Amino acid sequence: ADQPIDSPAGRSRANSKSKSRSSSANGRLSADDFEFGDILGEGSYSTVIHGTHRATRQEYAIKVLDKGHLKRNNKLQTALAEKNTLVRLGSGHPGIVRLHWAFQDDWSLYFVLDLARNGELQSRISRMGSLSTACARYYTAQLVDALDYMHLRGVIHRDLKPENLLLDDDFRIKVTDFGTGKLIDVPPERATKTFVGTAQYVSPELLEANETSKSSDLWALGCVLYQMIAGRFAFQGLSEYLTWQKIKQLDYTFPEGFDPEAADLVRRLLVRDPLERLGAGLAGSDYSMEELRAHPFFATIHWDTLWDDPAPPLE
Ligand code: ATP
Repeated sequence: ADQPIDSPAGRSRANSKSKSRSSSANGRLSADDFEFGDILGEGSYSTVIHGTHRATRQEYAIKVLDKGHLKRNNKLQTALAEKNTLVRLGSGHPGIVRLHWAFQDDWSLYFVLDLARNGELQSRISRMGSLSTACARYYTAQLVDALDYMHLRGVIHRDLKPENLLLDDDFRIKVTDFGTGKLIDVPPERATKTFVGTAQYVSPELLEANETSKSSDLWALGCVLYQMIAGRFAFQGLSEYLTWQKIKQLDYTFPEGFDPEAADLVRRLLVRDPLERLGAGLAGSDYSMEELRAHPFFATIHWDTLWDDPAPPLE
């Protein structure tokens, strides 16, 4: 499964319908190299389908994007930017969904991704109400490790939330959705409907100065940790506007029984000044996340074996 990425830009639109669908005789991969199975999920511009590579029987999640729909909505560049980000992240981290191949035919772009069979962390939180502190610790640690990797490669996620944290066969995290950062480029005053659903994780600097940085992902990390343990959003108003007011005023409280060390970490992440967040101090250096890793909440985490240690029961 280590073939190079077959760039969508490299495929000719001049291909006839039958040619472009029927074979990969030119040595490139095509949709015909896969058996398509169940639909795993749908996004605004995509359908994600279970795919089995015929030659190797290896299973993948194949994200299929309709080119016409993308073009009509001016989202072609965004889709290609998502692909480029995934290519930049490569195969180097177990906690980030890997792009194995990308190709296209006359109608669609296809991204062949790691299959995350156990769905979204969000569904688990919704089903269980909340996660145990042990579980929240494990997933937060995996998220810190994945963020460290992507930040060192110059990638800011900008839309971290439990819907974008998938779970693999062993219930380990796989961060996905590197194409939605663009949604929060929209200033709040001009926010469109697409802003809905991420409002709860938006950082104060984005709301106030329309700026994002690596540290905005640290803010979202604090929101996600809070949500895993509390079972609700840290910031939630009756409208988006009121949610944003709460974010700007840092207006949130911990429910009774919230683990004190987790609460301390949340407090150090949900800091208005992006430079003052835990983990932001040495941003850009190899050690940017060391102060986060050293937080007492992670005292029982073995960072060296984080991706081999079994996930605690989801309770
Ligand atoms: P939008 O584009 O509207 O923000 P989205 O980013 O969730 O939506 P996709 O990335 O296309 O859209 O994913 C759609 C759904 O497919 C996801 O909600 C998820 O449940 C499922 N899915 C996505 N990637 C995978 C994967 N690698 N393995 C398993 N399921 C996946």
